[in-house]
Amino acid sequence: MVVLPISGLQARWRPSTGRDDIALADSVPGLQGCLEYVGRAAELEQGLEAADLAVGDLDLLVVWRRREQRGDTVVAEGRCGRCLAPVDVRFSLAAYAAHHRPRPTRRAEPVGRGWYALRSTGARFRLPRVADVIAVSGAADPRRELLRRCLSEPVPASARGIEAAMASLGPTLSATVAGDCPECAAGVELAVNARELCLVELRQAAIGVYDDVNLIASAYGWSQDDILDLPSARRARYAHTIAGRVADRLGRELAHA
Ligand SMILES: [Zn+2]
Repeated sequence: MVVLPISGLQARWRPSTGRDDIALADSVPGLQGCLEYVGRAAELEQGLEAADLAVGDLDLLVVWRRREQRGDTVVAEGRCGRCLAPVDVRFSLAAYAAHHRPRPTRRAEPVGRGWYALRSTGARFRLPRVADVIAVSGAADPRRELLRRCLSEPVPASARGIEAAMASLGPTLSATVAGDCPECAAGVELAVNARELCLVELRQAAIGVYDDVNLIASAYGWSQDDILDLPSARRARYAHTIAGRVADRLGRELAHA
């Protein structure tokens, strides 16, 4: 169970089966692919849909899944801006998420039901949801279109105050991490979309489902459907056992060769 930082709602990942792993392995990068995966694999309080979440809450949910499955430390890869050498920056997902947590702002106050009022002008706004961001992705001016959806009145000429308040109250986990170049020691800042970084790794791990199905079907003759219905952890144990036996047999054959 994880408490989402922006909405305060609770969410959990359902125990996964091979079908979830296939869906993840075949999912496309980006917000839409993430939404489809989270929609089938996670459960939100009050029957809410993942599309209703603020983007930062969806980000955190994915980051927590990666922590559960593969630990807290990740590596962002990039290049030094001065000498172009490859640079790895290792960081803690928990510390990163804590650093980019939502913060109250003096610019705006809550007025109920998820709406806020900007203190300077009284303009009322809500935080962008995943569904909003996907809906505006093809718009000529997505930033302005997003504001139009999230304001209760026409978008003012300058919306900087509203955007700054939104960034404090509902930050995403797309930010930067700082490190040093191993070649020239220059300070390096790498842009990180923590959600997509974690999804790449989760997707990579999920691809193992294809090998598992092949191994188990070959060894036991079970159908693909039966294997995919197994909880992921149990399927992985069967595959591990079979792979160990195959390795033992090969070892014995080599010893006798
Ligand atoms: Zn360098």
